Amino acid sequence: MTRILIAGAGIGGLTLAQALRRDGFDVAVYERDPSAQTRGQGYRIHVDADGNAALRSCLPPPVLDRVRATSSVNGDLVATLTPALERVYAQTFPDIPADDITHVDRTTLRRALLTGLDDVVHFGHPVTGYEITPSGRVRIEGDEGDLLIGADGVGSAVRRQLLPHAGVRDIGLRCIYGRTPIDGSLVVPEDFDRGFCWVSDGSGYGAGFATVHFRTPVAEDYVMVTLVATPERLGLPDERLYALSPEGLQDLVATATAGWHPEIRALIARAGAFFPITLRAGERVDPWPSGPVTLLGDAIHTMPPTGGVGANTALQDAATLAGSLRSAPLLEAVAAYERVMLPRGFDTVERSLAMADRMLPSASGGALS
Ligand SMILES: Cc1cc2nc3c(=O)[nH]c(=O)nc-3n(C[C@H](O)[C@H](O)[C@H](O)COP(=O)(O)OP(=O)(O)OC[C@H]3O[C@@H](n4cnc5c(N)ncnc54)[C@H](O)[C@@H]3O)c2cc1C
Repeated sequence: MTRILIAGAGIGGLTLAQALRRDGFDVAVYERDPSAQTRGQGYRIHVDADGNAALRSCLPPPVLDRVRATSSVNGDLVATLTPALERVYAQTFPDIPADDITHVDRTTLRRALLTGLDDVVHFGHPVTGYEITPSGRVRIEGDEGDLLIGADGVGSAVRRQLLPHAGVRDIGLRCIYGRTPIDGSLVVPEDFDRGFCWVSDGSGYGAGFATVHFRTPVAEDYVMVTLVATPERLGLPDERLYALSPEGLQDLVATATAGWHPEIRALIARAGAFFPITLRAGERVDPWPSGPVTLLGDAIHTMPPTGGVGANTALQDAATLAGSLRSAPLLEAVAAYERVMLPRGFDTVERSLAMADRMLPSASGGALS
């Protein structure tokens, strides 16, 4: 039986593992995190039509049912608002297919994707590199397989060895992410409850807001709160930003939005679990000779979250690779996958950068893309 090794039990790696196991491959996933519960950094992920199609094509029905059951109640709006909560732009999506999901929480999605994979996923096993054996197989972590997929995210160890020249750049924006638990006393602006809302004050600060209302009570409902700005606008170099406590980050967000609508300020005052993120983008790489090691998702085309498509693209990669492996011999399948994945991934990175330019023109000077 063909044995396939996957580095990284994130969104793309687990979705691929589900598809490959269903298709009769022998699969092993090696994950750096000590356990599935390690990271409390659940954030809201928008799932688009491509992401829904990929989930449908990769997941066995009980796993797909679990992903749906633990997703959020659907939204139907994307809007840009002023800090006074006046709409500048709004697009509604009235015809979302009944079976589609529009957004999920990353932690609950990951837990759902782990369904039935207990014997396949090895937590606490960071992959530091790989070795090609004389017979052309791949070895990691004392295990040997016919193919290795690096699905190990932005800092990918597999990418560093396979494509040492591939660059990932800091796009000059920082995001401070937090969440406000929804309880009976919290007033949530109506548009925030309908979908993703971007609020910008034209001075170099922008903030995204959206709710997660779980379809089943697997976790606490929340409003996602995320402030985006350059380090210069924040007035803090990275050493100081990353040294701040969650409360210190909350103060920073509260100060940046001090003149905004009282309902926004109240949301921020009651938010918690703040953490900072550096927004990064993968630089386009030329195709390389295909072999028994390939890459998927952020490990190859690292996506800034400004387009809301990084997870969707990783899901598409999983669906494309699983489909190729079903229909062609191993190395031909890898080559066919890479021919589709590479241009699609990097075109999507460019669109996400263009979106960052539109969201914060005063910060980027239109130079990101
Ligand atoms: C705040 C925020 C909001 C976002 N919103 C959206 C959104 O709305 N829609 C959207 O589509 N995308 C969104 N994204 C982007 C999305 O989360 C990523 O693009 C997506 O998770 C990439 O999936 P992946 O499987 O490639 O990598 P990941 O999901 O990052 O998984 C990589 C996995 O590899 C593991 N790993 C790392 N190094 C090693 C190693 N050496 N050995 C073994 N394992 C390793 C990691 O622990 C992790 O589990 C957002 C990102 C952020 C930060």
